[in-house]
Amino acid sequence: MAVEQTLSIIKPDGVKKGVIGQVIARFEGAGLKVAAMKMAHLTRAQAEGFYHVHQQRPFFGSLVEFMTSGPVVLMILQGENAIAKNRELMGATDPAKAAPGTIRKDFASGIEQNTVHGSDGPDTAAFETQYFFNVFDRVNE
Ligand code: ADP
Ligand code: MG
Repeated sequence: MAVEQTLSIIKPDGVKKGVIGQVIARFEGAGLKVAAMKMAHLTRAQAEGFYHVHQQRPFFGSLVEFMTSGPVVLMILQGENAIAKNRELMGATDPAKAAPGTIRKDFASGIEQNTVHGSDGPDTAAFETQYFFNVFDRVNE
């Protein structure tokens, strides 16, 4: 299994709830390393560009509104099988359907305000990590 990098976002609801530390502890506890990290308050244009694949979905406007409602934590997570491992730790998009012990099951309040984002494959991971970080921002040990 290859070492991968993937984008993680602690969404505005997670930052507001004060669970940044608990979320990161789960990543580190599962063997994922934080390879880059910063906080940001996304602009509308940044959020729309990030979620461009969802542009035609009925929830797009509301999602952009939510993602720009407060600060987020942007991270690159690195490790063996990091993309799938992160998705597993996150749980299903809808917290009502998320497995026990997952981040969304434990912290999310709904299908939109679901605490974390994670890239869903190698192509999106490549796009999403470079969207928020350049090569000089990353440690790669
Ligand atoms: P995931 O984040 O699990 O990869 P998607 O890529 O399908 O899920 O959707 C992106 C984000 O859009 C979700 O994390 C969630 O915040 C929001 N979202 C998805 N489906 C809905 C929905 N039916 N209603 C409102 N918001 C949604
Ligand atoms: Mg997705």
